[in-house]
Amino acid sequence: MEDRFGRKIKYLRLSVTDRCNLRCRYCMPEEGVSKLAHQSILSMEDYAKLVDTFVELGVEKVRLTGGEPLVRKGLINLIEHIGKNPKVKDLAMTTNGILLAEQAEALKRAGLNRVNVSLDTMNPLKFAHMTRGGNLNQVLDGLKEARRVGLTPIKLNIVLVGGFNENEIEKFVEMTMDEEIDVRFIELMPIGEVATWSASQFLPNDVILERVPGLVPVAGTDPSSPARYYALPGAKGKVGLISPISCKFCSNCNRVRLTAEGKLKYCLHADEEVDLRPFLNDETALRETIEHYVFQKPEAHHIGIGTTVKRNMFQVGG
Ligand code: SAM
Ligand code: SF4
Repeated sequence: MEDRFGRKIKYLRLSVTDRCNLRCRYCMPEEGVSKLAHQSILSMEDYAKLVDTFVELGVEKVRLTGGEPLVRKGLINLIEHIGKNPKVKDLAMTTNGILLAEQAEALKRAGLNRVNVSLDTMNPLKFAHMTRGGNLNQVLDGLKEARRVGLTPIKLNIVLVGGFNENEIEKFVEMTMDEEIDVRFIELMPIGEVATWSASQFLPNDVILERVPGLVPVAGTDPSSPARYYALPGAKGKVGLISPISCKFCSNCNRVRLTAEGKLKYCLHADEEVDLRPFLNDETALRETIEHYVFQKPEAHHIGIGTTVKRNMFQVGG
């Protein structure tokens, strides 16, 4: 499956729920979200059918995200279904890690290959503040269990927020010395909740290189990855910089997204989306619709400080 700029679409990000057991300040409103009515959320059978179709059209990599994917009931069955498909080369998940300790073993057994865990601070009080009540120890236990069962290589996703976690940059980078872990810093995106935040809270990822000048670029990383990779000399792990604002990676973008309501989004930062649910019972129409809209994928996004996108991250899966 190719778009009109010749980019081959091989990566599907699947939002399996819009619900979450945290309320990160940059992602969700304090009062939570008006939960999508049950009938508007895709069933696990719908997901299975949609993933099969995307895979037939050339998708090789699937990532489960949300909301928080681990709160979705029936997820293990879906993982088993996707994991059995020999054309899927990589099946991964992005999670906040709160429920990982209790589910890691079953996830691995079902066929999940690896996890990215979102963790913005190693300070329990700051963690509770940013997530509005989350318990850092649960995430740390989840990471330990993910390592034990082999949901590896683990990637840690850290959203960089000015005045909040910039003083922990060095500590996060140090974690890569002794462990084969990728620590990835993500620029805060002015989406939904964040639209009204002050300019000082948005930091370009160059701050990392200024703080840790010993980082050297790593050659040969996947060009479709949104991260530019660096490493400390002798380190086992890498440091990734994901810079959608200061440095766009649209020309190598190979991904599309599916929301929990069955909407295909061909660009994270675009408001356009198409509802795939009306085509669920007609395999030919489903394929043609996906191909038609993927072809329309825009060349690049135009988001920057001062622009906004309607949906929050919990709705589109990050
Ligand atoms: N709940 C899971 C988690 O937190 O990993 C998966 C969904 S979450 C929406 C996916 C990623 O989006 C997380 O790493 C989160 O930190 C990131 N994210 C959410 N809002 C963001 C924003 N405004 N700017 C940058 N990253 C954001
Ligand atoms: Fe939940 Fe993830 Fe959004 Fe935090 S970033 S509120 S964990 S969906």
